[in-house]
Amino acid sequence: MRENIEAAISSIKLAQGIVLEDDWFAVKALDDATLAIGEPAYHQRNWSYLISDGDDSLLFDTGSGRRSLIPLVARHGRANVTAFPSHMHFDHLGNIHGFGPVMVADLPVLRAIETNGTLTPTDDMFLGASEGVPVPTFEVGTWIAPGDVVTVGARSLQVVHTPGHSPDSVSLWETERDRFYAADFIYCGALYAQTPGASLSDYLRICEQLLNDLPDQVQIVCAHGQPENGVDDAPVLGYADLHALRDVVAMLLRDEPRTGELPVNERMNLLFSADSFTA
Ligand SMILES: [Zn+2]
Repeated sequence: MRENIEAAISSIKLAQGIVLEDDWFAVKALDDATLAIGEPAYHQRNWSYLISDGDDSLLFDTGSGRRSLIPLVARHGRANVTAFPSHMHFDHLGNIHGFGPVMVADLPVLRAIETNGTLTPTDDMFLGASEGVPVPTFEVGTWIAPGDVVTVGARSLQVVHTPGHSPDSVSLWETERDRFYAADFIYCGALYAQTPGASLSDYLRICEQLLNDLPDQVQIVCAHGQPENGVDDAPVLGYADLHALRDVVAMLLRDEPRTGELPVNERMNLLFSADSFTA
């Protein structure tokens, strides 16, 4: 296993400006206070975000769990670090216990899995069985409602409920930097709308909402990437990609429910199931 990881790491080409840390994490500064943290040797190529200002850092997703993000966050984070999982899929909750009480979106679907201040995702919300990852139970520190603003030092990020990929997905909108942290709502590569709880009608509704609310110049940073021309970089999409996704979903919804895959554009494919037509 160790040799496999070393072979995987040594075959990866990182874009300029990305530094490999802990022989696993690809770290890129999006600006002087925002780090994109990738896992290019993990097959899902997850990217988490460390958003800092003053004494505060917000960690939006805690990684795949194949390696612990805790030492890296201790090096780069500020005095007060709060983790905020974008949704309950296993590859976004790695080592979640190591970050203390976490921030969680105040959604009925998440309130439903709360017991005495802790959350335990259901198997269908977590999906870790496919990779032998056990379901965690972890402490909730703060519930934050969609529409509310998370304050990180002097930075403000609005929580946006973005179902489609999963009912519990949220994204963060940072107006001041024109940056939308999309998590798994939209990302480069095979976009999952075929997993339990995925919904094409939610995809259509949220795409239209975002196309209305976000500016043309928005920088959409994503929670999964894929190598382009053999090079791994922090995944960034834009307004036109959101538009392309809306168009493909609208076209699909005019058809009979079926399971399959369609290209969205040269950077994304949409995977869907018959269930995601009716959810
Ligand atoms: Zn996901």
